[in-house]
Amino acid sequence: MAHTDPPDLPPTSSRDDSWTVQDTADLYRIDEWSEGYFTVGESGHLMVQPDNRISHQIDLYDVVRGLEERGIRSPVTIGFPDLLRRRIEEMVGAFGDAIESNNYRGGYSGVYPIKVNQQRFLVEEVEAIGRNLNFGLEVGSKPELLAVMGLTANGPDRLIVCNGFKEERYLRHVMLATKLGRRIIAVIENLDELDTLVRVFQDSGARPMIGIRLKLESHGSGRWRHSTGEKAKFGLSIPGVLKVVKKLAEVGMLDCLVMLHCHMGSQISDIQVVNAGLAELTRVYVELCRLGAGMQYIDVGGGLGVDYDGSQTNSDFSTNYGLQEYADTVVYRVMSGCDEAEVPHPTIVTEAGRALVSHHCVLVCNVLGANRVDRWAMSVEEARTRLEEVPDQPRAIEEVMDALSSVRDDRLLESYHDAVQAREEALTLFRVGLLGLEMRALVDRLFWSTCLEISRLARDLEAIPEELQELEHSLSDTYFCNLSVFQSLPDSWAIDQVFPIMPIHRLDEEPDRRATLVDITCDSDGKIDRFVDLEDVAPSMPLHAIRDGEAYYLGIFLTGAYQETLGDLHNLFGDTNLVYITMDEDGGWEIGEIVEGDTVKQVLGYLQYEPQTLLKAIRRDCERSVRAGRLSVAESRALVEAYDAGLTGYTYME
Ligand code: PLP
Repeated sequence: MAHTDPPDLPPTSSRDDSWTVQDTADLYRIDEWSEGYFTVGESGHLMVQPDNRISHQIDLYDVVRGLEERGIRSPVTIGFPDLLRRRIEEMVGAFGDAIESNNYRGGYSGVYPIKVNQQRFLVEEVEAIGRNLNFGLEVGSKPELLAVMGLTANGPDRLIVCNGFKEERYLRHVMLATKLGRRIIAVIENLDELDTLVRVFQDSGARPMIGIRLKLESHGSGRWRHSTGEKAKFGLSIPGVLKVVKKLAEVGMLDCLVMLHCHMGSQISDIQVVNAGLAELTRVYVELCRLGAGMQYIDVGGGLGVDYDGSQTNSDFSTNYGLQEYADTVVYRVMSGCDEAEVPHPTIVTEAGRALVSHHCVLVCNVLGANRVDRWAMSVEEARTRLEEVPDQPRAIEEVMDALSSVRDDRLLESYHDAVQAREEALTLFRVGLLGLEMRALVDRLFWSTCLEISRLARDLEAIPEELQELEHSLSDTYFCNLSVFQSLPDSWAIDQVFPIMPIHRLDEEPDRRATLVDITCDSDGKIDRFVDLEDVAPSMPLHAIRDGEAYYLGIFLTGAYQETLGDLHNLFGDTNLVYITMDEDGGWEIGEIVEGDTVKQVLGYLQYEPQTLLKAIRRDCERSVRAGRLSVAESRALVEAYDAGLTGYTYME
């Protein structure tokens, strides 16, 4: 796809030579959403600060260029294990501080729910980082449990929490892990599971550690608010909880009931939800203690939110609290509920996933080209010259022309309405065959020129009318990005999730274009048109004009949770390359691990195509064409080689 910057057009805003990297940082609000992990460097490159104990930063643009030199193409997901360590340590530190300042007498144990991002390297890292931090793992299915059992072979004391639907085989694996000495808790989500669990453990002679998932009455917030309440998919209501207690007492296993669990929904945006939910959870916890259960753990589930848009509000993609406030709230609520009932303080377990792993991954893609409306712009003089060549032009054309020549900054809205009306009349003539294609093209160009002029003048207004704000966005460029939204940013497509996006270089230059982003799938939904903006979420974002022959890279941040692993193969675009980057001793960077993205061959294989059979068919076809004289032997050979190379290539634009 060609770069399409027209050379002779004025920029949409005048270029400011006094522009600084701080202006860029302010424009993209990086200080608000990045939690200090990303900054704009003096070099004009995006810098990553994975480890706050070291002053060195990693130059993300340098990493991307270095990867390209090694043949690792964009789109590429870049993970920073040091940043992951930093997040986990901050989480444990926040709970440590809350425990100390409240004189809480129980402990804290985080578990990482691997469904949030199951990449082996990542889970191994969490396991390794968590070794001295009392940090364990949470699983929600049988395959996840089998993976975690293997990964914790050398750390049996790590807490493993088992959620999700459990049939007999799942529970047998839990029993096996118990016999292997793992500290593993099976959380009962429905009553059917209980009978099976009791039977499996009675037969084995092992003693289980059991948890109950409680259906909270208090309401969640944000997109996942329906994870609580009577209609929630998982968990037991109070009568169900009592039934579990009764059954366990009957079979002599009430002492095995050690945990009460809840999950208030993902991305909790309002701290009041945590407050209310924990008050309820703790009340049930102390009642279970009173009934004689062997309670030791209170598990508050996941839900700790990420401030994707940096607004610090209770909007869907933000949070009105920070990590320390969350930890303080949890510890205080559990403590006061237990103190009131004179019950010992339990170990607090959290299952935060998104908040742990979102930050450590950046998806980087290259921009392939741009569509610019202003490439069709023309001046009044140019239009007049063109019209002089056309005898008997319809009045409608003259009116579109008038709209352009009469744009004035004191009547911008009227000018816009005039232009819309004049174009509508011209379109009517076109529809009934009274206007030819040439004139229709001229009308479109005059109309866009009028809109561009109105939009340019509107930027100087103190208050820009809503219609003109929308006009500005609708005139923005379209940047074609080498990625599939369905594969790499499914939440952007499915739930309109906002991710912070910005270029990773040229940050010392003022971005003088506005654009929306589209991906390379053949699907009009494959686009991004919700961006972090100075005031609110905006449908377009500021970007630099693309320069001919020069790559332009965008970073899509906070993508470490729930993205690639949930993505799909729409149009057969496969997994992107994934690279983990660590700091080297001199402050540079090195590649820790590479997980190569899918090749065309692999994605075809997932859908039962056999690449060898396809290749054979092409070979036969080529031979036939040689015999029929449509191809020379050399052409046929080149064609087979190109097909074969295509099969082993990356699914994205190379
Ligand atoms: N625990 C349970 C039971 C969940 O269902 C989820 C996700 O929905 C999580 C933990 C992780 O939630 P989050 O990533 O929002 O912290």
